[in-house]
Formats: sequence, structure tokens, C-alpha cells
Amino acid sequence: MMPTAFMPPEGRAPHAASWYAASAGYMPGHPPLKGARSADVCVIGAGYTGLSAALTLARAGYDVVVLEANKVGWGASGRNGGQIHTGHRRDPDWMAARLGEPAARRLMALADEAWHFQRALIRDHGMAVDLADGLIHGIHKPRWVDEARREADHLTKHWGLGPIRFLDKAETAQRLGTDVYHAATLDPKGGHLHPLKFALGLAKAAREAGAIIHEDSRALSIRHGAKVTVTTPGGTVTADTLVLAGNGYLGGLDPETDARVMPLNNFILTTAPLEADLIPGNEAASDTRFVVYYWRQTPDRRLLFGGGETFTPKFPKDVAKFVTRHMTAIYPRLKTVPVDYAWGGTLGITVNRLPYVRRPKPNVWVAAGYSGQGVMLAPFAGHVLAEAIRGVTERFDAFADIPCPPFPGGTLMRWPTLVAAMSWFALRDRI
Ligand SMILES: Cc1cc2nc3c(=O)[nH]c(=O)nc-3n(C[C@H](O)[C@H](O)[C@H](O)COP(=O)(O)OP(=O)(O)OC[C@H]3O[C@@H](n4cnc5c(N)ncnc54)[C@H](O)[C@@H]3O)c2cc1C
Repeated sequence: MMPTAFMPPEGRAPHAASWYAASAGYMPGHPPLKGARSADVCVIGAGYTGLSAALTLARAGYDVVVLEANKVGWGASGRNGGQIHTGHRRDPDWMAARLGEPAARRLMALADEAWHFQRALIRDHGMAVDLADGLIHGIHKPRWVDEARREADHLTKHWGLGPIRFLDKAETAQRLGTDVYHAATLDPKGGHLHPLKFALGLAKAAREAGAIIHEDSRALSIRHGAKVTVTTPGGTVTADTLVLAGNGYLGGLDPETDARVMPLNNFILTTAPLEADLIPGNEAASDTRFVVYYWRQTPDRRLLFGGGETFTPKFPKDVAKFVTRHMTAIYPRLKTVPVDYAWGGTLGITVNRLPYVRRPKPNVWVAAGYSGQGVMLAPFAGHVLAEAIRGVTERFDAFADIPCPPFPGGTLMRWPTLVAAMSWFALRDRI
């Protein structure tokens, strides 16, 4: 049964304020959960992970209920940079050194599947998500230029990526509209999309496949047993299986996930529309900083720029000012251009920056901690969970084999520990 349209009560924001919310178009509402109901599968979280799991399960005939504390795509999925990074957050040589070459190859093959999976989702469901191809990765230190040239060749020949192309300083400046980078690499399979439109597209596909979505329905507690019962302010869902897809926002619902997936805040602004293109090829861009800068143009020719993290649970008071400092380091001439939107969001990171995909209890499944790569990996991870729930576990097992130690310091002490570690790396960016 299709949920009836639900508009939020007067005065309540329909979505976190951002350029995405302003440009996403119609956002259908989903009524909050009222009363007790049962389902085959209950999914907590309506971001890419949860919606994709719901879609695959509903298509396979499962009775699926998605509980979302806020709105569809309200979390990282509706606020992120929209950048499609191929591979994982760690490069394949890093993974091969720690996990062995066969495991690294398996993970790279999964990342490649994730890329194809996302393209198929967008195509098969006719999602209008402003998809654009190409990702340029700027090299911000001169001493890394030769290594980048070798790396582009190595990633292409040894790992089958790309083909990744090395760009010299002049071509980098021409393509990015700034001369602060010493060189760059271009990954033609990277790209960008409108992240909230993608989340809304996934929700529509999941609904059409039969999944029921309840917004404004925060899961407050979970009772575990042969079945799971999830309680929200308005009701309960009793299900055979539970999918935890709250990622950086899950906070406290599952101690094992909590110990391994750490919330981290990141910030974005969009300028007013610019008079001329900054990036003539319309690629996405990012750079080699540890606290990475990422940016691109929007279809209405704004610069959308992400940069800066806070290592405390708090957002800066003035997000526009906070990000402008980073943006003008790359584009000093934008100092006088008005900032129309600025917002922050919370992502989940893991100690080794590889996804956390697990089955913490026989009937509980979780995927999170994509560490800044979730635009491509999260929809696939949700699908992989759904497949595993149906009994096809090969891909799930490959992800679940990735070691994922808890953050040192437990949930109380890890913030100070992280602050110290991140501040050190951020400082190294400037040396
Ligand atoms: C500012 C920012 C920029 C980013 N940029 C990029 C990028 O350019 N490229 C990239 O690949 N990745 C990027 N990411 C990361 C990417 O957005 C995430 O990896 C991805 O969206 C994760 O999807 P998800 O569905 O797992 O989690 P989310 O999208 O965060 O969804 C989790 C949902 O669960 C809900 N929820 C949590 N707890 C409960 C509960 N108890 N009950 C009910 N609902 C609950 C939340 O409200 C939320 O809607 C960025 C993240 C941020 C914050």
C-alpha cells in the first residue's frame, strides 16, 4: 500500500536547510508510525543504506518498514558533497599491504560493482539526479607531484582503475580555474550528482516496490529476541529482521556499532550563481589534504564547496564563515561573492576508513562508516545487506571480513583522542 502524502505541520522545516533542499523539487511526505505493526524487515534510517536495502528487499517480496527519525535523506545522504569517488577511502596498495592482495582485489572488485550498481539504479528508475562525469584530484604539495604521476599509471595498469590521467600544473589550472595546485589526476569514472535528489529517487523506487516509509519516527529502543521490536514515539514495529542504517546519526542504539563508527561533522557552502564557469568540464574536484577540500559547480553555476571538519560534536556558530576561509584559500577571487547557503552534516568514519558491514546478532544487520565514500558505497552496501538477508552472503562476507577495531578510548574518550590525532594530520596539511 502506498503511504498517503503527508506535509509537515505548519512551521516545521520539511528538511535540513541547504541548497539541496532548495533545489530538490517536490519532496513527498511519509506519515509517522502510529500504533503497532509487524513486518518481515524493519529498517532504521532513510538514507542511501536503508533505502537501498529496503528497495532490494521489497522487490524480492519482503514486507519492509523503514523508520526515519526526520525526513528521507535528512542525514548525510541529503547533505553531502555529491562526489562519486571510485574505489575505497584507502587506496588499493594500502589495503593490499594490510589485508593481503587477494582481499584488496576483492574489495576493489566490490567497489567497481558499487559503481555499476549506482549507475543501474539511476538509469533503471529514471532518476533525474544531475549526474556528471569526471573527478579531478588536486595535488597540494610540490613534493607529491612525481608520486602522483607514477600513481596514476600504477592505479590504471596494476589495479585497472580509470584510466587515471595525470594533469600537469597548466592543465590543472585551466580545468579547475585556480593555480594553487601543482598538478592533479583525473578519474573519468568519478563524478558528481545531486545527493538529495538521489535519496528521494531511492525512496520513490523503494515505495513503488512496496516498502513503507515512516518519517518523524525515531527508533527510541530495540527489544531483541527471536523477533525484534522497535519502539518509536508513535508506535512499534515487530519484525523478523532489523537493518541498522543510521550511520553517523545512529547514536547509542547499538553499542557494537557505536564503538566502531564515529560521527564526524563536515561543512559545505554554495555561493550565489557565478558569472562564468570555474570548471569548464563540469567535473567534481577534491584534493590531497588530509581534511580534504571538495567542490564542483551546480547546474545553476554556483560553486558548491566543502571543507573543514569539527572534531567535537558541535557545529561552528557561523558555518558560512567557517567554510569561506577554506574556499578563498583555493579561490581568492570569490571573497566578495555572496554565500547563499551553508550547512553541515554528520558522517560515520571507522578507524581504518573502510566500511563497517556486520551482523551483530543473528537477526540484526548493519552497514555504516563509509568514511566519506558513501555516495557510491552506501547504496551498494544496503543492497549487499539485503542480499545477505535473502541468504546470498558472498559479498556481505567479503565486507564483513574487513577488520574494524573499536576506536580507542571508548565512546567517551574517543573525541579527545580524535581531536589530537586529526589536529596533527590537519597541521601536516599546512606544512
Ligand atoms: C557534509 C558531508 C559531505 C559528504 N560528502 C561526501 C561526498 O562528496 N562523497 C561521498 O561519497 N560521501 C560523502 N559524505 C558521506 C556520505 O554522505 C555518507 O557516507 C552516506 O550518505 C551515508 O548514507 P547512510 O544512509 O548510511 O547514512 P545517512 O544518510 O546519514 O542516513 C542515516 C539516517 O538514519 C536516520 N536515523 C538515525 N538514527 C535513527 C533512529 N534512531 N531512528 C530513526 N532514524 C534514525 C537519520 O535521521 C538519517 O536520515 C559526506 C557526508 C557529509 C556529512
